[in-house]
Amino acid sequence: MSLNMFSLKGKTALVTGANTGLGQGICVAYAQAGANVIGVARRSCQETADKIAAVSGSFTEIIADLSDVSVIPYIVEEAHKAHERVDIVVNNAGIIKRCDAIDVTMEDWDSVININEKVVFFLSQAFAKRWHEDGKGGKIINIASMLSYQGGIRVPAYAASKSAVMGITKALANEWASHNININAIAPGYMATNNTANLRSDDQRSDEILSRIPAGRWGTPDDIMGAAIFLASDASAYVNGFTIAVDGGWLAR
Ligand code: NAD
Repeated sequence: MSLNMFSLKGKTALVTGANTGLGQGICVAYAQAGANVIGVARRSCQETADKIAAVSGSFTEIIADLSDVSVIPYIVEEAHKAHERVDIVVNNAGIIKRCDAIDVTMEDWDSVININEKVVFFLSQAFAKRWHEDGKGGKIINIASMLSYQGGIRVPAYAASKSAVMGITKALANEWASHNININAIAPGYMATNNTANLRSDDQRSDEILSRIPAGRWGTPDDIMGAAIFLASDASAYVNGFTIAVDGGWLAR
């Protein structure tokens, strides 16, 4: 047993939604753990690049819109131009649309399901195809949610997509664990990022949420760094298809 098993030295990690919030935190954590990081985002990842430069890490940005699966071959191609092999894929990019269920449009439903669910599956498949060919395995980490377990309020497409993320994680683990691919998920609790800006600015909802979190505070991108490194490293070699909640105790209530 040694701390070396948590090292990502010599590995390359691709993280979607790398320009803000949890994705940015995961990128910085992986750079600190020694990985080359490739960040995929719709917009510039300059802030992430600066944070990684500050820890003398390696960062490459791929600008791509993940609202449709047709962008996936481009991402795979660009990633392999930057590095010979991608070892770790983090499906972090995601959107949430708040609306009474009775008013949800098909357009909004599709936009949430596409990025939160369909792209998660097909980006995983695209890299897994390479890993099946070279036989060297890999790590996939999906970002799930408390709404992988619960229904939430006024976010039915999000709840459906994040429940699917937990299902995809288990389904792929069953097929790919024997290919030395670990596929697991992290379910963040209520974290202070853009995703929860509306909730945090609503005093009533914010108080309701805070009073239910045993840790008594919103989480931060720093809080998921440990779980993200664990699931990307050799330390999790025999962990398959599991979703780790990093939630300040929310699910324990
Ligand atoms: P965020 O809004 O800061 O991050 C979302 C990321 O997804 C951004 O980097 C954004 O650029 C990217 N993204 C969105 N649409 C995209 C598109 N079409 N193409 C490319 N990238 C796109 O919020 P966050 O909290 O950091 O969210 C990250 C993940 O964590 C999401 O999957 C979210 O559902 C999940 N999550 C967040 C919380 C929370 O409380 N903040 C809780 C559970 C799960």
